[in-house]
Amino acid sequence: MASRPSGIDPASKPSGDGCVECLAEGGWWFHLRRCAQCGHIGCCDNSPAQHATRHAKETGHHVIASFEPGETWFYDYDTDQAISGPRLPEPRWHPKNQPVPGPAGKVPRDWQLRLHD
Ligand SMILES: [Zn+2]
Ligand SMILES: [Zn+2]
Repeated sequence: MASRPSGIDPASKPSGDGCVECLAEGGWWFHLRRCAQCGHIGCCDNSPAQHATRHAKETGHHVIASFEPGETWFYDYDTDQAISGPRLPEPRWHPKNQPVPGPAGKVPRDWQLRLHD
């Protein structure tokens, strides 16, 4: 039996289509990341509020997966390395017709100037 990789729960379902905190606060995101442990959807480090990384720091859930359509990479904050992971439960990504950045109606015109490097 292969042991389950630390930080990944292969049964975890995504919390929704968008960043939990941005949706609650009326913010916006660039790309979305999925916590591989609990399914929390958060925004990437280029996004203004960087909620995926904040979630990892606050919870100790140290592996994220991309929530962008077609992307299958995982990343481990503990080692700062890209890692491979299992196929997580559907939906694997946000809906293809969901705008990037998102969510619709919340993204400022000058959003590109507001990204983190
Ligand atoms: Zn966010
Ligand atoms: Zn989590």
